[in-house]
Amino acid sequence: MQFQERSRSEVDVAIVGAGAAGVAAARQLKTICPHLSVLVLEAGSRIGGRALSLRPELLAGEPIDLGCGWLHGARTNAWRKIAGDVGLTVDQTPAPWSEGGRRLQSDPEAEDGIEAFFARVDGYSAETDVPLSAMLEPGHSANARLEAIGTYLNGASLDQASLIDYRHYAPGEGPDWRVREGYGTLIGRYAEGLDIRLKTIVSHIDHGAADSVVLTTSCGTLRAKWAIVTVSTNILAAQAIRFTPALPEKVEAAASLPLGLANKLFLAVSPELDMPVDIQAYGSPTSSATGSYQIRPFGSATIEAYFAGPLARELESEGEDAALSFAYEELAGLFGSDIRRHLKFAAISGWAASPHIGGSYAYALPGASAARAVLAASVDERLLFAGEACSLSRYSTAHGAYETGIAAANSVASASGSTVGAVRENRSST
Ligand SMILES: Cc1cc2nc3c(=O)[nH]c(=O)nc-3n(C[C@H](O)[C@H](O)[C@H](O)COP(=O)(O)OP(=O)(O)OC[C@H]3O[C@@H](n4cnc5c(N)ncnc54)[C@H](O)[C@@H]3O)c2cc1C
Repeated sequence: MQFQERSRSEVDVAIVGAGAAGVAAARQLKTICPHLSVLVLEAGSRIGGRALSLRPELLAGEPIDLGCGWLHGARTNAWRKIAGDVGLTVDQTPAPWSEGGRRLQSDPEAEDGIEAFFARVDGYSAETDVPLSAMLEPGHSANARLEAIGTYLNGASLDQASLIDYRHYAPGEGPDWRVREGYGTLIGRYAEGLDIRLKTIVSHIDHGAADSVVLTTSCGTLRAKWAIVTVSTNILAAQAIRFTPALPEKVEAAASLPLGLANKLFLAVSPELDMPVDIQAYGSPTSSATGSYQIRPFGSATIEAYFAGPLARELESEGEDAALSFAYEELAGLFGSDIRRHLKFAAISGWAASPHIGGSYAYALPGASAARAVLAASVDERLLFAGEACSLSRYSTAHGAYETGIAAANSVASASGSTVGAVRENRSST
């Protein structure tokens, strides 16, 4: 379907992408600038981007999140309040890594080693950036566990990720909580009533004119006074959207903030199996290529396996059966080989191959921490950028994405000249 009617070929604000950032930006504009026409253009056939909740039949309709799941920094996470506003439930069971969180294994020596590693990261004061792996103590018994944790944090190995960027990471005060109905459900619910056009791929943005931006899409051409681009760094780095005039600094910044990879595999557990409830376990204490397993989240008959970094890449490229065998093997090691006959495949993500996204969350290459600000900077005040990778301290999260969407929307509102007071008011209420 083309943008045939005149009202659809011209809008005040075009937002590219209906993930957390795009939805937040659109909702904010609808709230504080109701006089502006806002259209969200989404390449995929659903809303949410890297937020995706499903209710597989095999799990008796139990909601699961294939993308974001934890409300990190829950006390100041804007999505937590929104969850209540839209009638969803925030479960306050602390995450395994938060104070009071439940973990199956206890290894005081590894825990001391992990604490010492993060103390060295925090204490690093040189200006020269180094990979996080530089803070490992050679030969320490906690190193394999640390390498695994590094992949969960960054979606990449410790030797790939910037220490300085990691030090800027501040998701907000914990503990981390979850939305009972799913994080993807929450973002979808918040998008209800917004003008979102699915299956609309933006391929070119001409921002050469002084008074407008022209977007070429798979459904025709759209002229807007402002455009907010929220696509992932891998999409920008691959130049899936071309800009005229060209924006080499954006492409370079995006390429130095690549998406790491994390994937989830969900298994149905037969009800007769007696397993602890909502507790986390690592598959192996001695391997960096190991899964993290959330056993029976919310008391459900489910196991959520989390694979990240090189292991996730390998398993995704080998396919579903490889991930399944890997998880069965590790779970048999933890709970005994009999467990296999109590497990069934329920669902799996494949974020590296997901069209229009291409990975899980953006980490900075060593030396590239400043690239986040370059990526986030607006161009000529008409072309704005948002998305998790644009957040300086809450990158890689859905609430960081939200905040960048709000910031971009507020910039548009200010530039439109009529709503500065409303912007301030709305900002103080989130
Ligand atoms: C497995 C996994 C676990 C995670 N766990 C957590 C967690 O526990 N807590 C947390 O806070 N975060 C987590 N995250 C990260 C979180 O999901 C993301 O940071 C956040 O959802 C990103 O939102 P975004 O709006 O920046 O980008 P996206 O969600 O990627 O949205 C961008 C949208 O743009 C669209 N698009 C791309 N190209 C085009 C184009 N050319 N034209 C039109 N549209 C286009 C895409 O289809 C997409 O919908 C996790 C992610 C994954 C994958």
